[in-house]
Formats: sequence, C-alpha cells, structure tokens
Amino acid sequence: MLTRLFRAHGLLVASHPWEVIVGTVTLTICMMSMNMFTGNDQICGWNFDCPKTEEQIFSSDIIILTITRCMAILYIYLQFQNLRQLGSKYILGIAGLFTIFSSFVFSTVVIHFLDKELTGLNEALPFFLLLIDLSKACALAKFALSSNSQDEVRDNIARGMAVLGPAFTLDAMVECLVIGVGTMSGVRQLEIMCCFGCMSVLANYFVFMTFFPACLSHFSTEEEEDNKPNPVTQRVKMIMSLGLVMVHAHSRWIADPMKMNPTLEDQVGVGFHSPRRIHPDTPLWQFYLARMLTLDVEQVICLGLALLLAVKYIFFEQAEAESTLSLRNPMSKAAPASGQHPPADACFPGPVIQTEPDEMIRPLPAPLLQPQTQSLFFLSDGKAQRGPEAQRGPTAEEDGAPSVLAEPRSLDVCLSILKNPEMGARFLSDGEVVLLVNSKHIPGYKLEAVMECPQRGVAIRRQMIAAKLPAPSALSSLPYADYDYSKVIGTCCENVIGYVPVPVGVAGPLHLDGKQFQVPMATTEGCLVASTNRGCRAIALGGGASSRILADGMTRGPVVRLPSACQAAQVKAWLESPEGFQATKEVFDSTSRFARLQKLQVCLAGRNLYIRFQSRTGDAMGMNMISKGTEQALSRLQEEFPELQVLAVSGNYCTDKKPAAINWIEGRGKSAVCEATIPASVVREILKTTTASLVEVNINKNLVGSAMAGSIGGFNAHAANLVAAIFIACGQDPAQSVGSSNCITLMEASGPGGDDLYISCTMPSIELGTVGGGTSLPPQQACLKMLGVQGACQQCPGDNARQLARVVCATVLAGELSLMSALSAGHLVKSHMTHNRSKVNLQQTPGACTKNAS
Ligand code: NAP
Repeated sequence: MLTRLFRAHGLLVASHPWEVIVGTVTLTICMMSMNMFTGNDQICGWNFDCPKTEEQIFSSDIIILTITRCMAILYIYLQFQNLRQLGSKYILGIAGLFTIFSSFVFSTVVIHFLDKELTGLNEALPFFLLLIDLSKACALAKFALSSNSQDEVRDNIARGMAVLGPAFTLDAMVECLVIGVGTMSGVRQLEIMCCFGCMSVLANYFVFMTFFPACLSHFSTEEEEDNKPNPVTQRVKMIMSLGLVMVHAHSRWIADPMKMNPTLEDQVGVGFHSPRRIHPDTPLWQFYLARMLTLDVEQVICLGLALLLAVKYIFFEQAEAESTLSLRNPMSKAAPASGQHPPADACFPGPVIQTEPDEMIRPLPAPLLQPQTQSLFFLSDGKAQRGPEAQRGPTAEEDGAPSVLAEPRSLDVCLSILKNPEMGARFLSDGEVVLLVNSKHIPGYKLEAVMECPQRGVAIRRQMIAAKLPAPSALSSLPYADYDYSKVIGTCCENVIGYVPVPVGVAGPLHLDGKQFQVPMATTEGCLVASTNRGCRAIALGGGASSRILADGMTRGPVVRLPSACQAAQVKAWLESPEGFQATKEVFDSTSRFARLQKLQVCLAGRNLYIRFQSRTGDAMGMNMISKGTEQALSRLQEEFPELQVLAVSGNYCTDKKPAAINWIEGRGKSAVCEATIPASVVREILKTTTASLVEVNINKNLVGSAMAGSIGGFNAHAANLVAAIFIACGQDPAQSVGSSNCITLMEASGPGGDDLYISCTMPSIELGTVGGGTSLPPQQACLKMLGVQGACQQCPGDNARQLARVVCATVLAGELSLMSALSAGHLVKSHMTHNRSKVNLQQTPGACTKNAS
C-alpha cells in the first residue's frame, strides 16, 4: 500500500517534471522574496548585510568552525563526485546544488515563518551541509538513468520512489525526532541549531521528493526530445505567472504599511549591529565588493577550498567518465555477483577472483561501462599496485589516436587469465588483449567473439588498425559505439571497425496498385530524393501506377568439366530429360523449405558445361540458399557421371554482380513491369515539360543512345540510382544493384489529344529479399517496415519480396519521369549545381571537375 503510494507519487513527479521544477523554484523564490520584503532584521537576504553577532567568538571556536566548514565543503564535493559518475556533471551538479540551496532557503524561510530567531545561522550552515545526504539522490538517479526511453524513465523513477520512498520518509522522521530532542534541551544556542536541523531535514525531504526526481525525469531524456512545441510550456508559464503574482501582491502588501509607517523603514537603516539595506543609489556590485573585501581568515580558507574543489571538479575530472553511463548503457545490468560468470554480452567488470594465494585480481571498482575506455582490473600484489590508471589499456581510441600502451603483464599470465573459464578477456586490459592478438593467441578476426562484449572487440581492433594508418586519427570520425554487433557477427561483416551512417530520405507517397508507399532511400546524392518525390507526385496526380511480377527465380550457374565435349553433351542431354531434371530437383529442393527448382539452362563451351539452376527462394534474395541446393545437386550429378569434375559452384553463368545479357534476357530474381499515365496538365505543371519533348528525349537517349553505347539492359536514365538507394536503406546486397538496375524505360504519347504521357519501366532482374543478409539489421528492418514488407510473409512465402520488387520498379519509374523531365526542360545541371554540389569542395578546389549527369 505504502509502496504503491510512493510509486504513484514518483510517477506523478516524473511525468510532470517541468511543472514540479518550476513550481519548486517559484515557491522558493516567493518565500525568499517574502523574506526580503518583510524586512526581518535577523536573516541575511540578497541586499542585507548580515548582522555580526555581538557575542564574543574565541579563537578556538574559530578553528573548530573553520574545520567544520572545510569538512562540510569536502563532504559536499564527494557527494557531487558520486552524482557525477551517473551522468552529466553539469546537469546533476546543478540539480544537486539547487537541491542544497533550496533546502537551505526552505529551512530558513520556514523557521522565519515560525518566528524563530536565527541569530547564529552562520554557525549552523556547516552542520546543515553535513546533514545533506546526496546518496539518496544517487540511488534515485541510478533508477532514472537505467532507462532507454522517456516511458522507461518515468517507470524507473516511480519504481525508485516505491523502493526508496518509504526509507527516505522513515529516515527523515527518525532524524527529525532525534534532532528534535535538542530543541527541548534548554540551552538556547543548541535549541536554535536543532530547530534549524529539523527544518533542514524536512526541507531536504521535500526537495528530494519533488524537485530532484523532476530534474532527473526531464534531463534523463532531454536529448531525445524534438524541438517541437511543448504543451507543458503553457502550464509552466501559468505556474510562473501565479508565483510572480504572489511576489508582487506580497511586496505591495508589505511595502504599503512601510510607506504608512516610516519608523519601520527607519529600522532598516545603516548600522553595525543591525542589518544594512543597500542605499538605492549604491550599485549591487559595490555592496558585494565591499563585503568581499572585509572577509575573515576563516572565510578566505573556506572560499579558497570551495574554489579549488570547484575548479578540480569542472576541469580536471576524467572527461570520459562523464558519458559512461548514458541512457543506452543501463545501470540495471549490474555486475554479476561474486563467483558468477558475467553474461556473454555484458561489458561490466566482474567479481573479485582469487587466482593464486598471493594474487588477487579484481575488476575496477568504478561501475562504468565502455570497456574500451576503462581499466579492467588491478592486482593487489606489490608489482601491480600501480592502481587502475597504470593498468589501463589504450584509451585514446575516442579521438582515434592510438594510445601508448600501459605495460602489460607477461604473456603467460595474460594467457592463463584468458583461458581461465572464471575470468576471460574482461580481466585483461586492452593492451594485454593486443599483446595476445599480436602473439597469435587470439585471432584478430575473432576479437568480438573472445571479448566479453562485441563492441570491445571492435574498439580494440580499431586501436590496432589506427596504429598502422598513415594518419592515426583517421578513424576518429568513423563511429562504432551503440551498434548491435551481435546481429553482424557471422552474418553481415567481418573484421568490423565501425559503421558508416548514410542519410536516409523518403519519397512518397508512391501510389501503386491502389496502395500508398513511403519509400526510404539511403543516398548522398543531393536532388535524388527530391526528384523522385516529384515523380511520385506526378504519378499520384495521374491516378497511380500499376505493376506486375512477371517471373520469380534466382539463379546459380556452376561450371563443371568432363573428359570430353561429347561426354559433356551427354550430361546436358540427361539434365534436360524429364528423369534427369526430376532427380536433380529432388536433391535440390530437399536443401531448403523454400528453394524449388524451376528450370535448368545448360550450355557448353568445349568440354566445359555451364548449368544455370533457377529456383524460387521464398522471401529470401536466395543466393546462399540456392548455392547450397546447387552444391547438393552437383553431388548427385557426380553420382550419375563419376568423371564429372566441379570446377566452381559459380561459373559466372548465373550471373551475379556483373553485367550480363543472360540476366537481361532470361531474367534473374524478380522480373517486374510497372506503368503509369500522366495527364498533359501534370506533365506541364509538375514536370515542367511536354509529352512530345519527353518522348523524343527518351527515344534518342534511353533507346538510341544506349544502343550506340552497346549497353546491355541500360535503356534507362538512372534506374541504378533508385535501386541502389532503396537497396542500401533496406539491407539488400548493394553489389546486386548491377543486375537489378537492368531496365528499359518506354514513353509514348497517349490519350484523346495525344498529349498525355504513357510511361513504363520493365526490369527483368531485380535481385532482392526481405529475409537474410542485411535485412536482419534493425535500421534496415525499420526501412522494410516502412513499406510493410519486413521479414517472411507467413501467408504466402515470397509475397513480401515480390512486393518490394514492385515498389523498386515503381520508384524507378518515378525517378525516370522526373529526371527525364529535367533533361528535356534543361534543368538538370542547374538543380544539381544548387542542391548537389559540395560547398566545401567548391571553396577548397575552385577548379574541381563538375559532377556528370546520369
Ligand atoms: P540466407 O539468410 O542465407 O537464407 C535465408 C534463410 O531464411 C534460410 O535459412 C531460410 O530457411 C530462412 N527463411 C525463413 N523464412 C523464409 C522465407 N519466408 N523465405 C525464404 N527464406 C526463409 O539468405 P539468402 O537470401 O539465401 O542469402 C543472402 C545473403 O547471401 C546475403 O548476405 C548476400 O549478401 C549473400 N550473397 C551470397 C552469395 C553467394 O554466392 N553465396 C552471392 C551474393 C550474395 P531454409 O533454411 O529452409 O532455406
């Protein structure tokens, strides 16, 4: 019940952070302003000089007070350091500072309202600081920062409140009751101190329950939020206005009686033992300067210490520690308990492990992530007690420069740690891992698998490679963090050193077959997406495009050799016979749930035999699938013809990733056709040209021009642009844009007046899939999801891939429409100069070659 209450409270505070933050700040300012304007002659305000106590302070008291104050400053510094390890030192530091400040102001203001005398507050301040416990803030921050999204932040703060709230409350109650005993002591000074202490505890409690969780909730996800208008702003403004109205009303209420009663104003006149209000003519800076110049020795010591620590905190703390605990590195994955193995994907330092009686190996105490930037252990024996820093592996990776390796332990020790099933690579520094790689004990290509998490393997490989580059900082702009390498290993890439982010644009809506698609396009060619978008618009205004799949069959064409051309001809005849085809198909089809042999196309070159296996491959692009089937089928063929020798499972008769007439003529993967009719008005207003001009340019460029160039399958303006952009966005094999871009674009005048445009694109060899290869990577899956074709189609395997092929063909049509229009209107060069020319290169190399038109 109590837990639920605190959880609900936490949820409320975390859900409305701005309201709570502004509400708390406003309340604090209101109470402060009330303090100032009431003219209370006992409390220091902005523009009141603090009264000097008349009591004599002995030098021993001064020493004790100074020590206490220094202790308080050091204590607060340590608390801030704790907070800092959780995230941005500035945000959490400011939140912590404000927490202390507002707690103090609340305490003094509440005491003032209760009409208690606060003479001697100066002495109470250090004790107040010692009462502040930011460890509670740390605990709550850990909950907040273990989140990946705004919703999670709220939930985690609510969870943190549910866990910590009852304990906070009990602590505050107990502290109050214990300190409250002092208020009945009869010793006046002690009573004041204890009263102040009680109020501080309560104020602290209030701030921790409201302001701090609100700050956490807001700042934890601040970076993820867009700059879109925030509806909360209105409510925040209302709260602020309310607060300001209160301030104004209160000041007037106080000011009026002061005007009516001049004696009250007299009370705040200048005097040594009474507070001094600044004369309206005296600038504020003069007032504070005068006060600073009259600082006591104890104040100078405290101020000096505070400044020293502040400078150390801000400028000299390790920069990398700041960002180590980000939202993407949840604290919730705690280090495993002693004696347990860490999870395979964990990047955390592990437990303390006893290896030899005299050698204790521990992970570093810092609960920080990013293994590539942290030292992972230190030894407690004399030799290794250089401390964590001395054991650090190369850490200059962040800026791309190889760091000087810390002295690693001996190869034997490193090897024994690596091979120890209870320890492993996480107990080795980066430098020691490099040592093991260089000595061939860890294969370089296996770094990801051997490390406790793949990202560390990638980071170490980068360090090793960077050291061999002409410019060691070359990799600094190649990102590698925050990437799910588990999806890459063994599937998409080897020897990984990072990833290249490519901008993804969207063209659409593409009206196709009665549906609308938003087409993702990954490209660095300016104009391309905009131009495709224009084509999509023209298609939409013309009533949409229609498409069909003409054929679906991936191919693999091995080369086999027989002792003679006659024997090769005999094999050809057997393969083309019904029984030969059936025997081969049975073996081929047995290798996959989706591979179904459709056709065998066989040709001879002397005694070489080329067999083109063609098969459906479900939703997969199918090259691996079909290669597997082909290999098995060839084994069956060898049983039939023992003298048959397999030269290569791919004999370029497929043909994969090379221009080839066979793909253009026979088709490969998905063969698709798409058509649309664009009304004359749309050609004129959207495409800024005429049907006659488009038809003429198409004939002379795409047909005659390509024929003159001896092109195979290149009877189009820029199909490859669209194919490559969609392939990269959707996780296809980009090299297959070679064959997939085969396309003939035809344009005719049509319609009653003969000025509408009929356009079609025929693409016989679109090689793509929605499962397998790069389609398993999350960003690429996101793009496939945009088109509603991600993964395997459950109802009819292959439908997703076929739908994707239709979208590719229709997008090519949109691209052809727009580019051909730009060419016929003479706009191409102008628009590329405006939108596609690198301004940087232009300035650096004024005479650089211009980009060619497609
Ligand atoms: P794959 O990932 O190797 O095979 C597809 C897998 O998905 C198969 O295991 C298949 O099951 C399974 N699957 C589940 N549902 C499916 C469905 N609805 N339709 C189809 N398969 C389904 O993918 P691939 O397309 O064959 O190969 C793609 C990779 O090959 C890419 O990485 C590409 O770069 C690469 N590639 C290879 C070559 C080469 O020569 N080998 C050439 C070019 C490209 P089954 O096990 O039952 O079949």
